[in-house]
Amino acid sequence: HNIWNHIPLAKPDPILSIIEEFNRDGNPQKINLSVGAYRDESGKPFILPSIKQASKILFDQESDKEYTSINGSLDYNRLVKQFLFGGFKSGKFFIEQDRIVLAQSLSGTGALKLSGEFLKNWNFKNSNEIFIPSSTWANHYNIFKNCGLKISQYSYIKNNSLDLTNLLKDLNQIPLKSSILFHACCHNPTGLNPTRDEWLEILKIVSERELIPIVDLAYQGFESGNLQQDLYLVEMICNKIANDEISTALICQSFAKNMGLYGERIGSISIITQNSNQTFNIESQLKKTIRSIYSSPSIHGSKLVEIVLSNDEIYQNWQNDVAKMSSRIKKMRFELFNLLNSMDNNLNWNHLIQQNGMFCFTGLSEQQILKLKNEYSIYSTLDGRFSISGINMQNIKYLAESINKVIN
Ligand code: PMP
Repeated sequence: HNIWNHIPLAKPDPILSIIEEFNRDGNPQKINLSVGAYRDESGKPFILPSIKQASKILFDQESDKEYTSINGSLDYNRLVKQFLFGGFKSGKFFIEQDRIVLAQSLSGTGALKLSGEFLKNWNFKNSNEIFIPSSTWANHYNIFKNCGLKISQYSYIKNNSLDLTNLLKDLNQIPLKSSILFHACCHNPTGLNPTRDEWLEILKIVSERELIPIVDLAYQGFESGNLQQDLYLVEMICNKIANDEISTALICQSFAKNMGLYGERIGSISIITQNSNQTFNIESQLKKTIRSIYSSPSIHGSKLVEIVLSNDEIYQNWQNDVAKMSSRIKKMRFELFNLLNSMDNNLNWNHLIQQNGMFCFTGLSEQQILKLKNEYSIYSTLDGRFSISGINMQNIKYLAESINKVIN
C-alpha cells in the first residue's frame, strides 16, 4: 500500500519557476530579468578573470582532496576575517582581541541557516524572535522558519522610497533583546538602503532595545564598486560594539555574487563576542551544529578564495572585476531611466536611479509584470523587481518600449 499519498505538491520557488518558463519561451527577443546573478554585456554568465587566474594556480598546486576542518579551512577563516574586519579600527581591535568567531559556510544561505540555529539554540531572552524587513529576499522567511524562529516584519518601503518613519516606529516597538536582520548594502529586492545618518538613527534603537543584529552581506562591492567601502554597515555596528552600545552581531557573508562563485557555495558566518572565552565556547558550539548538519564544508571555493585574498595582485584584479560589474549595472540603470524619461509617459522614474545594487524595484504592478511576460517575453518576479544585469545595449530599447506600452 501507498504510504506517501498524503504528501501534497510543494509550491514551486517563485524565482526558479520563472526561469523554467523563460527557458521554454521561443521568442528570440525574450529577456530574463528574474535571476540575481551577473550577466555580461552579451547576456551571458562568465567566470571573473581574477578567479580564472586563481583557478590556474589552484590546478597546479592542489595536492589533495582531504576533508577540511568542521568550521572550514583555517587559512580561509583567517583570511576572510582579515578581509571583512581588518580594514577598519574596531574590526582590527576585535581580531587582535580574538573577539570574532568565523566559520566557513555554504554561501550566504548556509551562513543564515547557522545564524538561525545559533539564535534558536542559545535562546538569549527574545533572540528566537527575528524581525526581517517587510520586503526581503523570500528565502529569509523559509530559512528562519525551518530553524524554529518566530518571524516578524518591520516596515521598509512606501511609494518606491525607504519608509524611514514607519521603520523607526516599528523598531521602537520590537521586544527587548530580539534579533533583527539588516541587508548590509544593495537591499534585495528594493535596492533601497538607509543613508549613513539614517543607519545611525536605526542603530541607536538597536542599542536602546538591546537587539541582536544579523547582517546579510550578499552583494558586497555592488553598491559603491569598492569591496571595502561596502562594509560600511559592518563597520558602523562594530564601532558601536567597541563602544559597548551594542553587545554582539552576526555577519552572514557570501562570495557568490562578488566572486561569481555561485555554485561553489562559499561564504562565512561571523559572530562578534565580548571576550576570547566567549569566542572559544561559541566556536565549539558552532562546530557541533555544523557537524550534525553537513560535517564539514566543501573545499574548492575556499581554496580559490584563499588564493585571491592572499595574493595582492589577484586581489587587485578581483577588485577591478567587481568595479566593472557594478559599473555596467549602474550604466544600464541610468540608460533605462533615460529611455523611459524620454518616452511618452507621465510617470516619475527617479526611484530607478536612487536605488543601488543588482536590482531595481520598478514599482510596476503584478498585472503589468504579467503583461510584460505574456505579451513581450520579459520575465521578472511578480513584485516588480528587475535584475539589472539581464539588461544590455542589445535589449534595452525593446525593454523600455515594452514597459512604456504596458503602463500606457
Ligand atoms: N541574501 C540575499 C539578500 C540574497 O539575495 C541571496 C541570494 N540571492 C543570499 C542571501 C544567499 O545567496 P547564496 O546562498 O547564493 O550566497
